[in-house]
Amino acid sequence: MSAPVVDLPAYEQARRIRDGELTAVGLLQATLKRTEAVEGQQPSSRPYALDAADLEKVHAFINRTEARALQRAEAIDAALAAGEPTGPLAGVPLAVKDNFCVQGTATTAGSKILENFISPYAATAVERLEQAGAVVVGKVNLDEFTFGSSNESSAFLPPVGNPWNPAHVPGGSSGGSTAAVAAGEASLSLGSDTAGSIRQPAAFCGVVGMKPTYGRVSRYGLIAFASSLDCVGPVARNITDTALMMNVIAGPDRRDATAANLAVPDYLAQLDSDLEGMRIGLSPDYFWLKIFDPTTGVLEEQPISPEIEKAVLEAAELLAGRGATIVEDVPMPNTHMGIPVYFVISRVEAASNLHRYDGVKYGFRYGEDTGDLTELYRKSRGAGFGLQPKLRILMGMYVSAEQYEKGYYERALQARTLIRQDFERAFDPEGQYGLDCLLTATTPTTAFKIGAVYGDSVLMQYADMLTVAANHAGVPGISIPAGLDRGGLPIGIQLLGPDFSESRLLQIGRAYERATEDASWRSIRPIVVRNLP
Ligand code: GLN
Repeated sequence: MSAPVVDLPAYEQARRIRDGELTAVGLLQATLKRTEAVEGQQPSSRPYALDAADLEKVHAFINRTEARALQRAEAIDAALAAGEPTGPLAGVPLAVKDNFCVQGTATTAGSKILENFISPYAATAVERLEQAGAVVVGKVNLDEFTFGSSNESSAFLPPVGNPWNPAHVPGGSSGGSTAAVAAGEASLSLGSDTAGSIRQPAAFCGVVGMKPTYGRVSRYGLIAFASSLDCVGPVARNITDTALMMNVIAGPDRRDATAANLAVPDYLAQLDSDLEGMRIGLSPDYFWLKIFDPTTGVLEEQPISPEIEKAVLEAAELLAGRGATIVEDVPMPNTHMGIPVYFVISRVEAASNLHRYDGVKYGFRYGEDTGDLTELYRKSRGAGFGLQPKLRILMGMYVSAEQYEKGYYERALQARTLIRQDFERAFDPEGQYGLDCLLTATTPTTAFKIGAVYGDSVLMQYADMLTVAANHAGVPGISIPAGLDRGGLPIGIQLLGPDFSESRLLQIGRAYERATEDASWRSIRPIVVRNLP
């Protein structure tokens, strides 16, 4: 049986639409039908208790923009019929994480404080995707302001369920994006990654997710969390679609001064070249986690899940079979500082970025204006923010206070430099290792159950152990599906490369994809779509 049209690669959907074998409206209708079949009740900010039926559905969307999508799909079909130019993504359904502005739609960041905010403008990445012909089908759920690794901290519930087993989390914070793409509710999605928020949920949902080099994609119109770490990137079902999306979203932007002023290569051009001469590193520091125990003061060593470790080692072997040289025992000794350093830096930047939500300029305002401005701020922020933003603002203010800044914030910045230096040493072409990339697991475990970790902020943050260092260093990373564990949940492997090496990471990812083309797990579909017509 051939795959339903919604599950085809985006490049193939776009080709069929261009060649007149499929219409944009037809693809949109099939996508909406799939969405209807897997979604369950509409998430809302009302008080909510999880019930058993919720654990069978996906709930990826906070807001479905069907009427707007239909208009755009019709316009694309009309342009094609008239022989007018469309773009490389003409007619491809796109889900946008709800921390990106889409003109004229609600943009909540998963928070009650922005519940009523209608964006007057579009994020650069969204604008470029729409210009390329992508059809935005809606805004997908996320942890509140992206603060989490499971999607459970959103103000909009029920939480997103993992399409491979909806009683498990999809990961976070871009879990709405990865769940929607895995379940065929969109062919592509736009995510953001501050510590792993694209790669970790991509691993949990069995899709591809890329965090580009810091500055490779404009952050204009992305709701800021930690501005020195935030990156915008693609979520897709395969490497070619990821490259296609990078071609559209990457590049300079005069509206974001941190967007790199560098030409964008054609990410599709090198995809199928072989790996002769490539050096791929394995590091013990990505197989063994060092976790600080605050009660004993000792760094405890813990291995990652053996099934995930096996997938990484098998991938190394397959890549060696395609011509790459595997370099073992590459030291990345500061990896274990990634999470503690992130706790400090990201909270300081979050506290600063969240100051703008004061009940005056955007979104939620508490009650009537009594004329007392401080009271208005306090009440609006008190009722508008959920627990995570409050905790993070408090911690951020604390560690950057005049008397503590030296001991916490400055030391964190110094440690961040050490993390960056690990990568520079490993990737130095003249150095001992001369790596093109590191091959690691994306996450220490596969997707955990809804409710199993939520409430423990430290444990939750461990989900980013293997991804966060790339954000500190600014280097690109990609998570690629690499099979299923015994429980049928996806495993992800990660490639990390030097600054602006996205082309190479995609090429290596594509080599792995080709090497596993016939693997039996490739034919297994997520449980929520397995029994659909
Ligand atoms: N788990 C991370 C956090 O809670 C995810 C952040 C991100 O990458 N946006 O901060």
